[in-house]
Amino acid sequence: MIRTVFLDMDGVCTEMTTYVLNQLGCPIKPFDFNSYPRRVGFDIVEAANILGPRQWTPEEFWRAITREMWASFPPSQEFGWLLGHAEALVGQENVFFLTSPTRDPDSLAGKLEWIHKHCPKWMHRQFLMGPPKHLCARPDTLLVDDADHNVEAFRAAGGHTILVPRPWNKLQNHWAQGALQNRFHRLFQVRNFEVA
Ligand SMILES: [Mg+2]
Repeated sequence: MIRTVFLDMDGVCTEMTTYVLNQLGCPIKPFDFNSYPRRVGFDIVEAANILGPRQWTPEEFWRAITREMWASFPPSQEFGWLLGHAEALVGQENVFFLTSPTRDPDSLAGKLEWIHKHCPKWMHRQFLMGPPKHLCARPDTLLVDDADHNVEAFRAAGGHTILVPRPWNKLQNHWAQGALQNRFHRLFQVRNFEVA
């Protein structure tokens, strides 16, 4: 039974990808998943180089994202639903953000600002920030993430996972909200069976 839910931020709770590409001059609107070049997968720098008017090195690209931008990503279309269902499944005290900042300190600070801006008060201190997400994997923890590599590492370390369908991962042809509804429906069934 799942007792703790870890929610990834970028690509799951925030719509980071299309927003950043838009802000950095690419002709793509926030939430316009159809214009994302799926063949590049998770490589957002390559996506910017294909779509945009200039070429970026990874260092230049990540440095161009300011603290204000990190704090201003729009909440994803699934965020409210996801937070509510995670809360209903395991209780407020067992829902956490688990997010990996970039090497830029502005990323870390902006993420905390985002949490304060967009989350109910009970979530304001419920976050873990760091790249090794798999350290949180246990037989009773669930990671909801949009990166294939995070999901694979977490599962290999013994945790449960939900990969949120996005154009940059292997579920790119699936419907994100439908996939989340199916997986949470089953998690509630398991919980109710074990509680009964
Ligand atoms: Mg992510």
